[in-house]
Amino acid sequence: MGRVLIIGCGGVASVAIQKCCQNSEVFEEILIASRTKSKCDVLKQKLDGGKTENQAAQWNANKSRTKIQTAQLDADKKEEVVKLIKQFEPDLVMNIALPYQDLTIMEACLECGVNYMDTANYEPEDIEEPKWRAAYEKRCKEQGFSAYFDYSYQWAYHKRFAEAGITALLGSGFDPGVTQAYCAYALKHKFDTIDTIDILDCNGGDHGYAFATNFNPEINLREVSAAGSYWENGHWVEVPAMSIKREYYFDQVGQKDMYLLHHEEIESLAKNIPDVKRIRFFMTFGQSYLDHMRCLENVGMLSTTPILYEGKEIVPIQFLKALLPDPASLGPRTKGKTNIGCIFTGKKDGKEKSYYLYNVCDHQECFREVGSQAISYTTGVPAMVGAMMLLTGKWNKAGVYTVEQFDPDPYMEALNRWGLPWQESDSPVLVD
Ligand code: NDP
Repeated sequence: MGRVLIIGCGGVASVAIQKCCQNSEVFEEILIASRTKSKCDVLKQKLDGGKTENQAAQWNANKSRTKIQTAQLDADKKEEVVKLIKQFEPDLVMNIALPYQDLTIMEACLECGVNYMDTANYEPEDIEEPKWRAAYEKRCKEQGFSAYFDYSYQWAYHKRFAEAGITALLGSGFDPGVTQAYCAYALKHKFDTIDTIDILDCNGGDHGYAFATNFNPEINLREVSAAGSYWENGHWVEVPAMSIKREYYFDQVGQKDMYLLHHEEIESLAKNIPDVKRIRFFMTFGQSYLDHMRCLENVGMLSTTPILYEGKEIVPIQFLKALLPDPASLGPRTKGKTNIGCIFTGKKDGKEKSYYLYNVCDHQECFREVGSQAISYTTGVPAMVGAMMLLTGKWNKAGVYTVEQFDPDPYMEALNRWGLPWQESDSPVLVD
């Protein structure tokens, strides 16, 4: 049914690729293209059933009918992306590289008239660059919050995508992604009006390291060290990083500390969920993680501004990334579960109600299935599901859209089928 160019072959992409290959009726042919081609080739071998007899015995269960090709690509260069799209002629480009590549890949899709999707919204690699700094400061002033990742860069493409008759689906991971499908589902089936949404991202997993990040360290640390913000009564409220804490009790995980963060889906939900009064995002962090992060920040290791070291320019946060464990290597070590979902309050048939819609995912089960921990799994599965919605024509509006702007039902059904079944409960889980 579909030919897909998948860009990136890191932690999240390798899960999404394996899920596409499990779903070979929809994903007939894929081209995996990334900066380091050898990673694409190793995954292709695994999915082709292995090169040697030993590998074949170990990997045969994964053997897929999806035809796989690989290529080297620097997606920072639009011309390279255009060239590859013209050679392979895909129906869809799945961008699962880094947020820094979103705009070059969107430009290439526009030039070639091909649908686009990603798992995280654009952020400039170096916000201090004069080109970005002025626009960033203007936006902060207008919008009242200072996160350097937001939808404005990509929403600016809506008209061009609509006129070209192609779709860009933004942020089809778990959060953003599934959390927005949960919001659309709650609005369609459970509420007449939603007053508040609290998105809770709880990771009860333990990898045994004093400090490591569960997905790309640079993107992760930039996100959690930024000021927190939430949406209330039509405005952004900005607070210092990690200054609002809550304790929740989670089904199958237990009691956890959570901290309020700025998160991209708050911005699109504020636009697309009518009359919502407050939207917040909370994530779990252990004390050891917070202590390490504070210390690294204090000594300047989280900076994205290049410095000269022994005559060579290095970016501190990129150097730190090279020292930290590769998130892809956490799979075999991580035990425990994630519980990610949304608490809604609002009205149905004139009565006040609250409702929790969530997924529980087990790190070790994910590892057994695809060789990754649950954070990559809970992002990679919805990436495949979002791509499937576009390829099967279930979601087919021309323009740039986020997940909650489409019918949630086929997406929710596919989550159940492809490894992220959802659960519901009436009771809120706040402890303190
Ligand atoms: P990784 O660092 O593990 O993988 C990134 C991949 O992109 C690597 O294969 C890397 O190549 C490749 N890449 C980087 N730059 C380029 C480039 N210029 N050209 C081509 N390929 C490139 O990241 P993750 O898998 O952890 O994260 C992937 C994406 O998923 C990120 O955008 C992240 O923000 C997003 N994410 C979304 C979540 C959600 O819930 N929505 C949750 C978690 C992550 P190389 O191997 O050479 O480094």
